[in-house]
Amino acid sequence: GHPRPLAEPLAPRDVFIAVKTTKKFHRARLDLLLETWISRHKEMTFIFTDGEDEALARHTGNVVITNCSAAHSRQALSCKMAVEYDRFIESGRKWFCHVDDDNYVNLRALLRLLASYPHTRDVYIGKPSLDRPIQATERVSENKVRPVHFWFATGGAGFCISRGLALKMSPWASGGHFMNTAERIRLPDDCTIGYIVEALLGVPLIRSGLFHSHLENLQQVPTSELHEQVTLSYGMFENKRNAVHVKGPFSVEADPSRFRSIHCHLYPDTPWCPRTAIF
Ligand code: UDP
Ligand code: MN
Repeated sequence: GHPRPLAEPLAPRDVFIAVKTTKKFHRARLDLLLETWISRHKEMTFIFTDGEDEALARHTGNVVITNCSAAHSRQALSCKMAVEYDRFIESGRKWFCHVDDDNYVNLRALLRLLASYPHTRDVYIGKPSLDRPIQATERVSENKVRPVHFWFATGGAGFCISRGLALKMSPWASGGHFMNTAERIRLPDDCTIGYIVEALLGVPLIRSGLFHSHLENLQQVPTSELHEQVTLSYGMFENKRNAVHVKGPFSVEADPSRFRSIHCHLYPDTPWCPRTAIF
């Protein structure tokens, strides 16, 4: 989008970034994030996981062991989102952002985006993965259901919520309520967020093209626009390897996610980035 006037100055400590992970991905995914974007602002980032890890604890104090099951079930993932929400409320920070452990967060672009909105207002910003509102069935009582439809920001692209809005979500999101709300529509955690915000509170999702999941073709993000993107990702899409296309300094074999190359593009002063690299 176009740059907007600054609504308020924003410091890294005003933002709470929750990274959802699971023990089996600590080495496979999280270490890469710790070496790249998280290393730039450790005070912004909180890791939500399901298993103890001494190596991780040595790296950052912001690790939250959720006591949620390590399964990939709807309940286990909703349990993690519920803990993320509660920790954010406790933190007193202005903005809550959620990302997966296969997301790169461009912290400067994120701060720029959030600074253009007042955190006291209702802001829910991210990117939908569907091209229409999701149709769901809402359980309203013991034996009564009704159709409901709403937009939601896909969790795999990351999304952010202002403190003002997060506080209004509390009756459906705080304590044990989030899991009950998720059971009411029987949909995953990111859909449940959309349900609370759009369907229950009537606050529309602000769509941003600056958030990216691996459910879209990441090759289409131009290198010249990397500085503006808020999140990036890597993974599989339509059975093919999907990653941002960026030339060097690391080969695709050495850096399949492209996160190291992206990081050197955004922060060329990083000690491990080759000095000779010309972008
Ligand atoms: N995840 C989790 N528990 C699991 C499996 C995955 O918390 O048992 C997390 C994972 O760390 C990631 C997110 O859920 O942050 C999405 O997982 P993944 O990227 O593997 O799947 P996708 O839904 O993107 O295909
Ligand atoms: Mn993923």
